[in-house]
Amino acid sequence: MTDKKIALITGGSRGIGKACALELAKAGYNVVINYIGNDEAAAQTVAELKELGAEAYSAKFDVTNKEAVEAGVAEVMAKFGRIDVLVNNAGITRDGLFMRMSAENWEAVINTNLNSAYYVSSPVVKIMMKQRSGAIINMASISGVFGNAGQANYSAAKAGLIGMTKALAKELASRGIRVNAVAPGFIKTDMTKDLKLDGIEAHIPLKRLGEAQDIAKAVKFLALDAEYITGQVLQVDGGLVI
Ligand code: NAP
Repeated sequence: MTDKKIALITGGSRGIGKACALELAKAGYNVVINYIGNDEAAAQTVAELKELGAEAYSAKFDVTNKEAVEAGVAEVMAKFGRIDVLVNNAGITRDGLFMRMSAENWEAVINTNLNSAYYVSSPVVKIMMKQRSGAIINMASISGVFGNAGQANYSAAKAGLIGMTKALAKELASRGIRVNAVAPGFIKTDMTKDLKLDGIEAHIPLKRLGEAQDIAKAVKFLALDAEYITGQVLQVDGGLVI
């Protein structure tokens, strides 16, 4: 057990989740990063977290598997005894026009990006209710706010996450738990590396793609410094959609 506060970040081995983990470690948190398959990336992230002075470990479980999630959360409690910040960040894309979208691609995206937030938040909320404190940040997307052609599955999942954010914010405020969402625009990670984004900068008022750290700073703000903010969706997109 430890005196430090604990953050659990799903999909924390790479990209935005990794940047959030490092940012919270810099702020003095111990960090558990969840991931599904990339052992090398997870080990590298844990090593970087430890270099920052955090107690950290990687928890390999599939966020779409309720039993696996419950076991993963129980392990965090056995090791650290509390969870102060949950970032529901794990996500995938399976883009394609709706006309040709298979049920498999629809369900994979809804399960990984939306149902996972239910599976993980469910046990974590019970823990935070006992603590009478906690912050949950859901990783949405501007696709969930505005919709994006070729991403009906992803837009639906992210819009669902935003609805869940607002409902939970209302349910949990009296228990000292805040729930917010971040809606990133185009961020340079493995998820976007194969997209044809040439020239997109011209359409972004701040004239650049986002870095994972741009999102991590927003997550840190909502987790640590936003004591009077709940139920909000913070767009971090360089002004792409105003
Ligand atoms: P990424 O680089 O592809 O990383 C995805 C992370 O999710 C990895 O850590 C991966 O683990 C994990 N993951 C995937 N499926 C999982 C599962 N079933 N169970 C557990 N972990 C799983 O993605 P990213 O760009 O950082 O995106 C992170 C979040 O931000 C996602 O929710 C995404 O929708 C959202 N977002 C991203 C952008 C963008 O432009 N990049 C924009 C808007 C929103 P492994 O390493 O083991 O594979």
